[in-house]
Amino acid sequence: MPDQKKIFELTKKLISFKSISPDQAGCIDYLETVLSEIGFTITRLDRNDTSNIIAMIGNNGPLFAYAGHIDVVPSGDLNKWTFDPYTLSSANGELYGRGIADMKGGIAAFIGAVAKYIQTDFNPSKARIALLITSDEESSAVDGTPVMVEHLKAQDIIIDYCLIGEPSAKDNLGDIIKIGRRGSLTGYIEVFGKQGHIAYPQTCINPIHTFAPALNELITVAWDNGNDMFPPTSLQVVNINSGLGVANVIPNSLTANFNFRYNNLHNAQDLEQKVAVILDKYNVQYAIKWVYSAKPFYTKPGKLLQVINQSIKQQLNLTPQQKTDGGTSDGRFLIDISHEIIEFGLSNKYIHQIDERIKTEDLYNLANTYYLILNKIFND
Ligand SMILES: [Zn+2]
Repeated sequence: MPDQKKIFELTKKLISFKSISPDQAGCIDYLETVLSEIGFTITRLDRNDTSNIIAMIGNNGPLFAYAGHIDVVPSGDLNKWTFDPYTLSSANGELYGRGIADMKGGIAAFIGAVAKYIQTDFNPSKARIALLITSDEESSAVDGTPVMVEHLKAQDIIIDYCLIGEPSAKDNLGDIIKIGRRGSLTGYIEVFGKQGHIAYPQTCINPIHTFAPALNELITVAWDNGNDMFPPTSLQVVNINSGLGVANVIPNSLTANFNFRYNNLHNAQDLEQKVAVILDKYNVQYAIKWVYSAKPFYTKPGKLLQVINQSIKQQLNLTPQQKTDGGTSDGRFLIDISHEIIEFGLSNKYIHQIDERIKTEDLYNLANTYYLILNKIFND
């Protein structure tokens, strides 16, 4: 099984870099050294302020890729942290540090697992393993994983088994894995009216009044009922603005934005069309800008899912629930070049929070499970 002391030391080192997204702050450079010492061939793909690294080993055979990010969100008020967020700290059977769960701990666990696997059962003429690590998952993601996907695409490299190490667990390591994610689509609408004195509404068009019934339909309509893989599509309004700040003027316009989290029963175009039909039904005069940030993805159950289930059962004695909820992930880009994608990592209970932490044993159990996964994919 993977070396716990080495995993601890690596985690400690990774936490010490203040790699607030997208600044790698030396963390990617450090991984480059660690991975080349293990025997990986390194490709650095830096763009603008983002650093990316593709580490590959093996000559032939199916490609297993582990994808992750070393960037973290800011710590927030340092005084509220029990320990310094950039020093790995241990207390009451837990490990504290910014990024320990999301997802430097996961990366250290995988590196521990792959280092062990390469020493023991790895056959470079029958297996290929890659790590795809970025410093921009938490911010725009524009110069991160998409750059690596482009690079692999240009070389006709297809990933057979893609494991994303994002924190997927809820209460216990292995309780949940993600087999897909919903898409995300945001609409920025401006509703046009005609400004005037509130006492003479017949000479005005009140954009709040024209938008209100349309809005009511947008938020109450059932877009679908979901399916076996996905929950129903939902629309959430996140902002509405109108008015001149006075009591006697009907405003000229209203702006609002709303976001769809949608399943694989839709695509962005048909949702945009359905919104237009509702707005037209209520005669709303408007302009709308759509920002499309993720398409839904779902991977058909295959060998990777089977192997992950078996490994979790063997190491953690659990049968994971297979879910597609939660925010977007870099799986939305990797799906273009991957046959099968699954997310399986540490607990997301404290991610992005003050005192981000994990159970210490989870770090080592995850490494053991990753090690089993590699063995079962290539050697069973
Ligand atoms: Zn993450």
